[in-house]
Amino acid sequence: MKPQTLVNHPALVNLPSDNYPLVEPIYQTVKFSFTDPKEIESLFIGERAGFFYGRIANPSVQQLANTLAQLQGREAGLCVGSGVAAITTVLFALLKQGDHVVMFLESYKPTRKIVGQLLKKFGVTSTVLSVLDTAAIERELQQRPTRLMIFESPTNPVLRIADIPHITKLCRRYGVTSVLDNTFAGIHNHAKFDIDVYVHSLTKFVGGHGDVLGGAIISNNALMKQFQETLIDVGPCMDPHAAYLFMRGLKTYFLRYERQCANALQVAAWLEKHPNVCNVSYPGLPSHPQHALAKAQMHDFGAMISFDLKKGGREDMFAMIARCKIFKLAASLGSTESLIAPSKVLYGFDLDDAQRKVAGINETTLRVSVGIEDCGDLISDLESALK
Ligand SMILES: *Cc1c(COP(=O)(O)O)cnc(C)c1O
Repeated sequence: MKPQTLVNHPALVNLPSDNYPLVEPIYQTVKFSFTDPKEIESLFIGERAGFFYGRIANPSVQQLANTLAQLQGREAGLCVGSGVAAITTVLFALLKQGDHVVMFLESYKPTRKIVGQLLKKFGVTSTVLSVLDTAAIERELQQRPTRLMIFESPTNPVLRIADIPHITKLCRRYGVTSVLDNTFAGIHNHAKFDIDVYVHSLTKFVGGHGDVLGGAIISNNALMKQFQETLIDVGPCMDPHAAYLFMRGLKTYFLRYERQCANALQVAAWLEKHPNVCNVSYPGLPSHPQHALAKAQMHDFGAMISFDLKKGGREDMFAMIARCKIFKLAASLGSTESLIAPSKVLYGFDLDDAQRKVAGINETTLRVSVGIEDCGDLISDLESALK
């Protein structure tokens, strides 16, 4: 082999089967080859296991998907390039022209946009309700054949709790596929419920360091076949290096989550006593209207807090954010560092005034993601910003 050929066909290093790396290597390859061409046919018709092309499957990505499915207590997982890609893959796979979707005011804004604008072009109809209005949810399902319901808990941005046992019971009764965007709760919560499909933005708590985008779909084997086919045809696959970063993030996931929850509870309890603050919403506070439900549904209460300024308006709120030194103004959540963001601009801009009121988003509503920093420093930062 001439050097020009050699660099393109390096010899593989085969590890002995009793000698293995403790951390899965990054299979940074698009193509997988076979020595016997007939084996490709066997792979395609599902007679043997193996890998062929990176958009279809990759061992690094597969290890992450399998681990996440185990953590969420389900048969199968599929990883994609972002949380939004997880949502679109599920919706594209399950919905067709004429299908009806129920979704919520208290949810991730792009979800409402994907269903209400993008899928509307293909003849999918939808209704937007409040997740607190369980009577309206039941009425809607009674009145209208519904294919799918997509919801969250705790909700964005004001941390309401969806009554998951009630919602899943209704979905079963009316033959509706339930999709729970479990990003805010994390990968270890809500496994015990009768949910058909979980979607996650791994960008948040699983990555944990704000340096990689990814999403996951977790479900049973039968539904996963449909998602897998859509992934191959639409192409929102995850890069193997991203999968490696998520596997690394997972090693400290529980430690980070525990610390973030402990910090969030302290910060929320402190905010609640502050004279310039009102409407503090944290599911772990006994004052949260659904504290008992959160306690029954979740192992812990998460890292997200919502609150309003008691006096002043939009300008005062922007000034308060600008005075924060540790809490950084940024979108996203769940990473090691604390963040603060104005809720109306970032999360409720597509809603009208009446809808925003129902959703609990006011002019000065702020959303905070609590990190793993020293809690005293976090409280001092908010204290000087609120003066
Ligand atoms: C961030 C987020 C998403 C989207 O995730 P990306 O990884 O940014 O695409 C979906 N749902 C919720 C609840 C989120 O917070």
